[in-house]
Amino acid sequence: MKHNFGAGPCILPSEVFQEASQAIIDFNNSGLSILEISHRSKAFEAVIEETEALVKDLLSVPDGYSVLFLQGGASQQFAMVPMNLLPQNGKAAYLDSGTWASKAYKEAQKFGAIEVVASSKDANYTYVPKEYTIPADAAYFHYTSNNTIYGTELFEAPQSPIPLVCDMSSDILSRKINVADYGLIYAGAQKNMGPAGVTLVIVKNDILGKTGRDIPSIFDYRKHAEAGSMYNTPPVYAIYVSLLNLRWLKAKGGIEEIERENIIKARTLYDEIDRNPLFKGTAKLEDRSRMNVTFVMENAELEKSFLALTEERGLVGLKGHRSVGGFRASIYNALTITSINTLVDLMQEFAEKNA
Ligand code: PLP
Repeated sequence: MKHNFGAGPCILPSEVFQEASQAIIDFNNSGLSILEISHRSKAFEAVIEETEALVKDLLSVPDGYSVLFLQGGASQQFAMVPMNLLPQNGKAAYLDSGTWASKAYKEAQKFGAIEVVASSKDANYTYVPKEYTIPADAAYFHYTSNNTIYGTELFEAPQSPIPLVCDMSSDILSRKINVADYGLIYAGAQKNMGPAGVTLVIVKNDILGKTGRDIPSIFDYRKHAEAGSMYNTPPVYAIYVSLLNLRWLKAKGGIEEIERENIIKARTLYDEIDRNPLFKGTAKLEDRSRMNVTFVMENAELEKSFLALTEERGLVGLKGHRSVGGFRASIYNALTITSINTLVDLMQEFAEKNA
């Protein structure tokens, strides 16, 4: 058995993979593959309706919001957000807390004036900036709730006089959020929701249609909302696998239960990092992510041999991103406490041998 600590794409429970593979051969005893049924069929309509209903249920999405399933990944949202929300000659505000956050504001600069209210770039994004003022005359404030590469996470929605827009690609569905705090939330599915190829957008309807721009239809949230995410052919299989995963999450007790487990998993691993003399966490304590745990060793040679040992024992995907080095344990919803304990045991075994 492998323990997958990789950052993605598509980290899902094994029972979801089982059911998803069966549907490729025969979808719901229809004699057809999920890949070949029409996206306009009653069978697929039921899939997309249930997926939307489960997102609304699990995240308690209030009335007045549209839940959309789009393509193009979170990166497409870096452009779609300003296209739909930034008025011509207007301004938007962004928080720069990591590589993805900075990509988001750089794309937005193509559509208007962008004020970067704070950045932790000078400290290699080891923390999430908290001291800043959100300008009341901007159209929206964009931030990234979990910085996948650097292992930092912002748990509280900032107080804001303007609509909040949040990239939740790597922590959506891992903890309770109050959707009403946000004008728009987006997330590439491929960490906690489903396969790469579908992107979740939750948008408050009354913030749309105010830019004065002639938005190409495929990038216009209103067109997708009017068409129930069927403006064009949707990513049928990615949506179906997301549905299976959302059913799994609901059956295990929903967000409350997964958040409880995620807290235990993260605490267990951080406790070992703090206790074990060979390892050191890279993120500021109060900003440590529950989804991506980044840590290093003082000795680069030992890092190589620990990584080799993890791979030998079936723990995969632990090599840190090149911007941070060391190790990154991505501990998304589907990763079990057994996998965390296996990693912790190995860290202890390694420390005993290399004391
Ligand atoms: N935002 C965050 C926080 C991410 O972690 C990622 C990818 O890992 C992206 C954006 C980019 O997502 P995509 O590859 O779906 O465009």
